[in-house]
Amino acid sequence: MTSAASPGAPVTVKSAWCKSCGICISVCPKNVLEFGHDGKATPARPDDCIQCQMCEMMCPDLAITVVMRAKATTAGKEGASDGR
Ligand code: SF4
Ligand code: SF4
Repeated sequence: MTSAASPGAPVTVKSAWCKSCGICISVCPKNVLEFGHDGKATPARPDDCIQCQMCEMMCPDLAITVVMRAKATTAGKEGASDGR
């Protein structure tokens, strides 16, 4: 009904918007996506996703959202470059 993804998956597909064209499946370099039993694209191997966003960019129906995973490293201040 809504998005089909495992918890924490970086890729979500709005199945209601997906027209099963298969473009996302063919462009994904990591074979993350495949057709589910409902005939819609679904992230079958979300752990393999490298978040390249190709699927999101190529989907003609804007059905895919790639959520950039927060890095475990410190992403705080980018080095306080105060000249003094
Ligand atoms: S590119 Fe978009 S519309 Fe086509 S199969 Fe993938 S999610 Fe569905
Ligand atoms: S973001 Fe890249 S690796 Fe992840 S599912 Fe989309 S095309 Fe595949």
